[in-house]
Amino acid sequence: MEHFKKIIDGKKYSEEFLQKLHPLSTEFFKNFNRKPCLAVILVGDNTASSIYVKNKVRTAKKNGIRSVEVILSRNVSEEDLLNEIFKLNDDQNVDGILVQLPLPIHISERKIINNISPIKDVDGFHPTNFGKLFLGDPNFIPCTPLGCFYMLKNELKVLSGKNAVIIGRSNIVGKPMASLLLSSNCSVTITHSKTENLREHCKKADILISAVGIPEMVDDTYVKQDAIIIDVGINRLQFVNSETKANETKLVGDVNFKKVVDIAKKITPVPGGVGPMTIACLMHNTIKAAYKNKKENFANFLGENF
Ligand code: NAD
Repeated sequence: MEHFKKIIDGKKYSEEFLQKLHPLSTEFFKNFNRKPCLAVILVGDNTASSIYVKNKVRTAKKNGIRSVEVILSRNVSEEDLLNEIFKLNDDQNVDGILVQLPLPIHISERKIINNISPIKDVDGFHPTNFGKLFLGDPNFIPCTPLGCFYMLKNELKVLSGKNAVIIGRSNIVGKPMASLLLSSNCSVTITHSKTENLREHCKKADILISAVGIPEMVDDTYVKQDAIIIDVGINRLQFVNSETKANETKLVGDVNFKKVVDIAKKITPVPGGVGPMTIACLMHNTIKAAYKNKKENFANFLGENF
């Protein structure tokens, strides 16, 4: 099959997703005379984090969501950051709060996340939301796994009975991804840095999801014929341009696309795969939070469990 037919186009998926979402923010504005509102807190000047925040704010604006940016110095104390969160928790005009991770090492990420009101926790990292997801009664589902799940559901239609293998056990991706797939009756294996015989696990996967952060680690020796591959990794690779001899960087995933594309049935590219859907899901969670804040029914096109 030609390679382009194998691509799971996250950009296209996200555009369709946002088109379905937009009427809900318009409707909210009509009913409450204000837009749904997302507050984003950025601590420090990490380049990647600043780009992510800019993309989130830009997408919010395009989709009828007001955003409030709180930009704090890298040296901000944990107490001052907590005070910013308390103010946003109390602000009736703010529906969702996101703290861009990672935070500087003198601040406890867990403490910060635990103090975001669970009803405004659009990242879905608060223990209440995390627990609800694992109990099969989700409120806010973390955006990256939700986006991956949405694409998988659309590609495969039926997930029940599939062998899903996840590489990476983080709270942001691996663990919530496992919970979502389990709720859809997949048999799920979570692998990680201490897993023995990683390739053998991966070779059994009908669905292989990689969230590791090692450039192009997953090659053809990890992949079963006709597997569906979701590459969550975002890695900046330095290389020397052979024509100009200049040092350049490019984004690559955890998966060596060229080596696996002939074996895989479908695969997400990097960039243009998981990334755009992550942002789209953040918009979804924000609008959902806004309706919940107003104690209004949210006409969720993903189904009531999302
Ligand atoms: P993390 O560092 O928290 O977790 C990495 C996981 O990989 C760990 O569980 C670790 O055990 C596992 N691991 C490390 N080395 C391994 C190895 N050799 N073999 C098997 N497992 C190994 O990272 P994270 O936050 O889950 O992010 C993972 C990647 O996904 C990163 O590249 C990150 O940038 C990317 N990411 C992308 C998005 C997106 O929107 N596209 C969102 C979140 C994370």
